[in-house]
Amino acid sequence: MQNKKIWLSSPHMGGGEQKYVQEAFDSNWVAPLGPNVKGFENDLQSYLGGDVHLTALSSGTAAIHLALKLLGVEQGDHVICQSMTFSASANPIIYANATPVFVDSERLTWNMCPDALEKAISASHRKGKLPKAIIPVHLYGMPAQMTVINEIADHWGIPILEDAAEALGSHIQHRNCGTFGKFACLSFNGNKIITTSGGGALVSSTREDANKALFLATQAREDQPHYEHREIGYNYRLSNVLAGIGRGQMEALDAHVAARRANWAFYKDALQDISEISMLEEPDGYFSNRWLSCILVRPSSGLNRETIRLALSEENIESRPLWKPMHLQPIFQQYPFYGENIAESLFQNGLCLPSGSNLTGEDLTRVVACIKKLYQSN
Ligand SMILES: *Cc1c(COP(=O)(O)O)cnc(C)c1O
Repeated sequence: MQNKKIWLSSPHMGGGEQKYVQEAFDSNWVAPLGPNVKGFENDLQSYLGGDVHLTALSSGTAAIHLALKLLGVEQGDHVICQSMTFSASANPIIYANATPVFVDSERLTWNMCPDALEKAISASHRKGKLPKAIIPVHLYGMPAQMTVINEIADHWGIPILEDAAEALGSHIQHRNCGTFGKFACLSFNGNKIITTSGGGALVSSTREDANKALFLATQAREDQPHYEHREIGYNYRLSNVLAGIGRGQMEALDAHVAARRANWAFYKDALQDISEISMLEEPDGYFSNRWLSCILVRPSSGLNRETIRLALSEENIESRPLWKPMHLQPIFQQYPFYGENIAESLFQNGLCLPSGSNLTGEDLTRVVACIKKLYQSN
C-alpha cells in the first residue's frame, strides 16, 4: 500500500466555520451579500489594523483587477510587476489591455529588487510612459523590501498595489503586509493560509476607493429603483456562505501562522547538516507567516531540486518548484524585463516543501527522512 498522501498546502478548518455557515442558512442569507460578508470584512480590517477599508471579493485575482481599474489603468499603460510570482499577479494587467513590465527579485527576500525597479521606471519614463502602478509581491509570506520600494514609488509618484495574497499574517516591524500600498489584494483560495474555498479581498487606503470597488464588484448598478448603468461592472462579490467560512478561519489564523512557522523551523533544524540545502532567513524586523517552507538546493553530485522533487513524489509527498518567473513564461515573454537572473536561478534551484498548518509531526518526519536518505545514499 502507498503511504498516505502529504499535500503541499491543504485547507485546514478551525472548527468555528460551520456555525457561521449555518447562520447564513438559518437566516436565508444564501446570497452575495449578508451579515457574514460585513463580519468577515470587519475581522480582516481589525486584524490588519491601520486605516484600511476591506471589500470581500470572489478571488484575489478579482481584487487585483479592480485595483487596476481604480488606478485608472487603461490600454497602452505600463504596469510594473514582480516577475517571480504566480500568474494571477500579472494576468489582470492584460485584462486591462495594459503592458506588464517585469522586474527581477533580490536575494534578501526573493521579492522585487529595488535597483531593477528603478531601472524599469526610468526606462518607461524615457518612453514617455511613467508606469501607472507597481505590483510587489510578498512571496511565500516573506515581506518585500517595502520601505525602499515605497520610497522609490513616492519619489516617482507611482501608486503601489501590494500583492499580499500569500502574506496574511506577515509584517515588517509590526506593520502588516496589506497595509503598505494604496491598494492590496488578499486571497482565500484553497491553498492559502486561510481559505473560503475560493475568495479574496481588496484592501483600499481610502473609504472612497472601497466604495467604488464595491460598486464595480456588484455590476456597477447606479442608485436607482430600476437597473441603471453608466459604467461596465463586474460580478466579483464574495458569497455570504463563503464569508461565513472566512469568519471561522479568522479565528484560526494566528494558530495557522504559528503552525506554518513551526514547519519551517522543523525543516531548518532537520536539514541544517546538508550543506547543499539552504533556507531563506527573515531579515531584521521582518516576520513571515511562512505560508510555504522553501529550500534552495545547490546542485551537486547528481542531486538537485528536481531529483528531490521526484524522490518525494515517489513517496507520495507533494512538493513544487518555486514560481517560474513571468518573463520566462511563453505567454509573457514578449514584455520588457529588468534585472539579472536572480528569479531564474531561484526557480531553477528552489523547491516548496509540504507546508500545511495541518501537517503532523509524522508527516514532517517523512519529508525530512526522504531528503536525508537521498543525500546519505549519494
Ligand atoms: C493565490 C495568488 C493570487 C490569486 O489569488 P486567487 O484568490 O487564487 O485569485 C495572486 N497572487 C499571488 C502571489 C497568489 O499566490
